[in-house]
Amino acid sequence: MMARGLPKQRPIEGVQNVLCVASGKGGVGKSTTAVNLALAIAAEKPKYKVGILDADVYGPSIPKLMNLSGEPALTADDKMEPLINYGIKCMSMGFLVDEKSAIVWRGLMVMSAIERLLRQVAWAPLDWLIVDMPPGTGDVQLSIAQNIPLTGAVLVTTPQDIALADVRRGAAMFQKVQVPVLGVIENMSVFVCPNCGHTEHIFGQMGAKKLSQEIGEIPLDRRVCELSDAGQPIVVSDPLSSQASSCET
Ligand code: ADP
Repeated sequence: MMARGLPKQRPIEGVQNVLCVASGKGGVGKSTTAVNLALAIAAEKPKYKVGILDADVYGPSIPKLMNLSGEPALTADDKMEPLINYGIKCMSMGFLVDEKSAIVWRGLMVMSAIERLLRQVAWAPLDWLIVDMPPGTGDVQLSIAQNIPLTGAVLVTTPQDIALADVRRGAAMFQKVQVPVLGVIENMSVFVCPNCGHTEHIFGQMGAKKLSQEIGEIPLDRRVCELSDAGQPIVVSDPLSSQASSCET
């Protein structure tokens, strides 16, 4: 797929495609999905060069999920060097500010911080840059969708109707700025009992099907949480069990 963009959008130097991972609300597994998607794309053959931009500046979780810390070094032309783990170049506000200090910024400040994290970073060369969006569909999310030449968006939801309503809003936002929604991930779609293998649709069944989009499902699995917390994304630490299923809509 080629990079695309509206006329006012400036491409990011050395980056072929930008894919954003968005959700209507926090806690649905957006960052977990972004990280594992990045690692899965990087593991494709032929090999793709992949990076992750943590645009969730209020609650950056990429440093923890990718087991990275420390301040980025500067290049000779004053760009920030991304930090690298599992072969993925990462940039996050979490590398630049103290983890415990709350970020109290207005939308414009957030947008200019994200612009810097995007454009003043030595990303090149990258085939795919995965953007972990801030949750929601407010001004900041709209600005990102408008200002960055996005190849497409992936929406993450849980099966509950309330989360689905949020994802519908997200899809409408991307449609408004002509960014294709490439698919919806229904996370925590089913719980598989680790003892007996019994499956339970804790949050209801096939909620995301109502969205008439290409759907991927990820089960609610204790290992996803444990491995994420340890900075070992499941796609690299347990690749066989991490394969999301998909279903016809
Ligand atoms: P968001 O980015 O939407 O706020 P996160 O990706 O940070 O959400 O996930 C929130 C929490 O849920 C994390 O503790 C994560 O490990 C856990 N989690 C996400 N997906 C799953 C899953 N499929 N099974 C179990 N835990 C999950």
